[in-house]
Amino acid sequence: MIRVGVNGYGTIGKRVADAICSQPDMKLVGVAKTRPNYEAEIAIRNGYDLYAADPEHADAFAEAGIDVAGPVDELVADSDVIVDATPSGIGERNCELYEKHSTKAILQGGEDADAADQSFVARANYDKVGDADILRVVSCNTTGLTRLLTPLENRYGIEKARVTLIRRGGDPGEIDRGPINDIVPDPTEIPSHHGPDLNTIFPEMDIDTAGVKVPATLMHLHSVNVTLESEPRARDVRELLGRESRLFFIPEQAGIEGLGPLKEFARDAGRQRGDLWENCLWEESITAEGRDLYLFQSIHQEADVVPENIDAIRALAGDRTREQSMQLTDRTLGVGLESMFTDQKRRAVRPAADD
Ligand code: NAD
Repeated sequence: MIRVGVNGYGTIGKRVADAICSQPDMKLVGVAKTRPNYEAEIAIRNGYDLYAADPEHADAFAEAGIDVAGPVDELVADSDVIVDATPSGIGERNCELYEKHSTKAILQGGEDADAADQSFVARANYDKVGDADILRVVSCNTTGLTRLLTPLENRYGIEKARVTLIRRGGDPGEIDRGPINDIVPDPTEIPSHHGPDLNTIFPEMDIDTAGVKVPATLMHLHSVNVTLESEPRARDVRELLGRESRLFFIPEQAGIEGLGPLKEFARDAGRQRGDLWENCLWEESITAEGRDLYLFQSIHQEADVVPENIDAIRALAGDRTREQSMQLTDRTLGVGLESMFTDQKRRAVRPAADD
């Protein structure tokens, strides 16, 4: 069993902690939080050992009547791997603590790429982790782009990718984010940080990205144009992408015409917290014009990095191959929504072997 601790129990940390508990080869040692709040209460109710991340606030837990298992130092010392899901910038500072205890660590996309030995997306570079001690699961948007572009690069070669990312202004729990009545180029410069971030996975890939922030908390939407090195048929691209377990095709017959109904579908499908771990592609948007490929995909920012964190734990401390780890993660979490629809053809394609 791989013993895993989660430091930072917010939007990403609580999802990763739950996902660890459903893995047959992992044990959640505990989770660390700075302050007692409703998430701390839920952690206790879930039976998770709660550690105090910040000694200065440790008394606040006792005052709130919440039992703490110990300081975060103990959690780190007792874990084989720590998933650090603290706010941007704090993970890098925490690395000293992880190194002190010789505990391997996974940082999130808010940290600089230089803070880790390797940026990570399972589909692209699980096999290249080697003897790295610190991985960085890239941001939700970069994860979504990497999952999409990896099979295209492998099959056709990518001459140039151009992506406009229409980004949610904040997560549902973030009361102080915006805009609330605007549409904001963010950043106004091109490229946004997403293209360079993808280059930490694919250094040679020619990609331009532009970001826009909108008043929504649901998901991100990507408008993708990829010029391939050889001319594809849209049907073949659909088949290629249809084999990817973490790409979900929204079928035309579903009547899901926006991100609101997509999240509603996830809730109706029984997904915990309405999470969508998969990139969600509008099937009819996949269009080939010569060597140019176009499509729309949406990314659930709170959820798509969760399976990647689980695979990153195995890449650091397990003995499974990429295929074995991804399959186990997908099976235990329940990744793959296509079985909800009666499209026999796509279901016949999906279980096929990797490209
Ligand atoms: P969050 O604010 O929801 O959660 C962070 C948690 O860490 C909070 O519970 C906070 O109290 C706690 N914390 C603060 N300081 C701490 C410390 N010193 N030690 C331990 N815990 C501390 O943040 P989040 O949205 O989960 O983001 C975490 C990381 O994941 C960031 O790097 C972010 O960029 C990345 N990320 C976020 C999203 C997203 O959409 N929310 C998506 C992908 C990646």
